[in-house]
Amino acid sequence: MTCTCIQTVNEKLATLNTRLTQAWKMGDSPDEGLMLETDQIEKGRGKPKAVAVFLTFCPFCGVKYGEDAA
Ligand SMILES: [Zn+2]
Repeated sequence: MTCTCIQTVNEKLATLNTRLTQAWKMGDSPDEGLMLETDQIEKGRGKPKAVAVFLTFCPFCGVKYGEDAA
């Protein structure tokens, strides 16, 4: 894991019955990162589904996911 921010924030959010939306990327990076919540703009038949957005950097400490915090 790159940093412990997700774990730290999740522990605080747990008191509010909440947790961050996490994504586990397959393949190139075994590190877990955060997934930004997205919303589908136009709904209905034939409309493409909303895509997932994955964060490249930790929003709490700024470390790039996939790199060890030295
Ligand atoms: Zn962090």
